[in-house]
Amino acid sequence: MTNEEYVPHFRYMPDQPEKWPRGAAWTLTHAHDAGQVTGIRCARCNVTRYYKPAELREVIGNVTIDEVREKVRCQKCGSREWMGAELFHPTGEQAHTIRYRRLVQIRWEKRVIWRDE
Ligand SMILES: [Zn+2]
Repeated sequence: MTNEEYVPHFRYMPDQPEKWPRGAAWTLTHAHDAGQVTGIRCARCNVTRYYKPAELREVIGNVTIDEVREKVRCQKCGSREWMGAELFHPTGEQAHTIRYRRLVQIRWEKRVIWRDE
């Protein structure tokens, strides 16, 4: 099975439980608890990467998938407007074959800013 074959179909709405109250924000924490996977795709490069919701939360906060889509940028082409993001429940087979992009480290770099007075 190639990577392309299990690219999830990108829908507008995240994959939420049916009982979830209308209007309540489904955040990355909920997605993590529900065992969902985050798929982030650049339509321009045709590249999809898979992330664990809890790790995305470390980087961009406990936001909704719509906010994730607004914040991400393609690492390859640098574009924002071609990005798609969705949460989905992996099938049994996907659960074993998805290759995640894992968070290694968040590095805070020291920046020095000078001002002439
Ligand atoms: Zn791209």
